[in-house]
Amino acid sequence: MVILSKMRNFLSFLVFIALLTSCMKGQKVDLIIHNAKIHTMDLSSSVQDAIAIRNGKIVEVGPERQILNKYRSDETIDAQGKEMYPGFTDAHGHMLMYAKQLLGLDLRGVRSEQELLHRCEQYKAQHPNLKFVLGQGWDQTQWAGQQMPTNTQLNRLFPDIPVCLYRIDGHAALVNDYLVKKSKLLDQLGQLSGGEVLFLPRDSNFGQKIILQTYKPTGVIIDNAINLVQPFVPNYSQKEYLKALLQVQDELLQYGITGVHEAGIDFEHIAWFKQLISKGKLKLNVYAMLMNTPLNRNFVQQNGRYRYKNLSIRSFKCFADGALGSRGALLKAPYHDHPEGKGLLLTDIARMQNLAQFCLRNGYQMNTHSIGDSANALVLSIYEQVFKQKPDHRFRIEHAQVVDPQDFQKFANFAVFPSVQPTHAVSDADWAEARLGKARMKGAYAYKTLLNQFGMIALGTDFPVEQTNPFATIQAAYNSPFGQALTLDEIIRGMTIYAAFASFQEKNLGTLEKGKDATLAIFEYPVNGVAGQVQNYAWRTFIKGKCVFKLEAL
Ligand SMILES: [Zn+2]
Repeated sequence: MVILSKMRNFLSFLVFIALLTSCMKGQKVDLIIHNAKIHTMDLSSSVQDAIAIRNGKIVEVGPERQILNKYRSDETIDAQGKEMYPGFTDAHGHMLMYAKQLLGLDLRGVRSEQELLHRCEQYKAQHPNLKFVLGQGWDQTQWAGQQMPTNTQLNRLFPDIPVCLYRIDGHAALVNDYLVKKSKLLDQLGQLSGGEVLFLPRDSNFGQKIILQTYKPTGVIIDNAINLVQPFVPNYSQKEYLKALLQVQDELLQYGITGVHEAGIDFEHIAWFKQLISKGKLKLNVYAMLMNTPLNRNFVQQNGRYRYKNLSIRSFKCFADGALGSRGALLKAPYHDHPEGKGLLLTDIARMQNLAQFCLRNGYQMNTHSIGDSANALVLSIYEQVFKQKPDHRFRIEHAQVVDPQDFQKFANFAVFPSVQPTHAVSDADWAEARLGKARMKGAYAYKTLLNQFGMIALGTDFPVEQTNPFATIQAAYNSPFGQALTLDEIIRGMTIYAAFASFQEKNLGTLEKGKDATLAIFEYPVNGVAGQVQNYAWRTFIKGKCVFKLEAL
């Protein structure tokens, strides 16, 4: 028995030595993740088991034994058979706007004008020393009657501080009379273009001349009219914003989102992002689009294409029109439910053409918000000129929500990159046809057609207009209410490699292949598009090989 036990000890010693030497033999890396189902999203959509990472880059992705035999690491993670994907990108979001929403009065989900007011009352009670009120998130299409609100009761509640309550899409706002007076809004109506001020009786003035003596403003202002009151609305401090931005980041990382295309920032915000990044606090890849302002243009002329660590700036955001919900989307023919109006052109054509040329000269990309079929046609014609000068321009149309069927092929002909938000289709499904009528629905929310035309499509959420949850995007795109469903492979590409192409980052991001950033997410549950799934989260999220989110066991 003693001999047998000695033999056993000796054998286990041999096994130990063998293991040790095989470990010693491998190349040293920083991290090995194995026993995973790795969706590389490479050209052949290959699936692998293990990945070796060094200096934030992918050294190799391959079969389990191959990676474990070839590499050794002090840190090894057993992914327990879970699915790994390249980190998701939200190709159209608004971190700053979401931060603002978190700092103010949240009006998402209010089901009536009364409930909106009730939330305002509660907010006032909770914040006794209010100097201003900023709210966001109401949506009259969710109310019985779908009528725009008025500020009558709001004026009673807040007679002497400015109040600005943005509609969910940010393209309309309900403001109180104090702010209307303070901003001298009514004196500026003559100069207002690309905007509306609604008057009582409600909804009376789409496309009509206003007689100020007869009508009283309802407090609802649309698109460019918001710009006239904005300077008179106080704002939160930079410190408050930066704190809220990190809250937004935490929310994104838990979903495996590792990058955001921030759809429109002012000059001062460049410094905000840099400040958070320099302190190592902002880890997300931020691809920021600049608003077309003199300060931003000046920045571009001085810096050209700009990169500071994980902040990349080489694009402009531009608004061709408004939104469908507030009837600001520019249509070729009048609204089905408002025959007097065709919507609003927010930026005049010469200015858009000028921006396109400025972008071309400076190696920048132009990303234009276009919702209505007329706005899309206009922008496509501007991009046609761009295409003649530079075929691989990657200029984008953001939303491309309603496209005249005869214009679809222009996305292919002029190489125009469509960037869409599938959850909008679900949110708008109940009322879009009321705005557009049946015939125009053929070219609405047509994601599959757009993908087929250009060959790629970038997917986002437009948060905080929609929730940040990428699994809602996956379900919405997979179960299109308008017969335009994408496959799971197409959807994931829209959030990974296509989003990388849409931001000129395909060399480093978008697939899990040798040499690219080790920016990836492992998910708690398998990712699929079937409706009614339990909410999925990242189990681990990595940016450049560093774990930035870890799901804690409940
Ligand atoms: Zn947006």
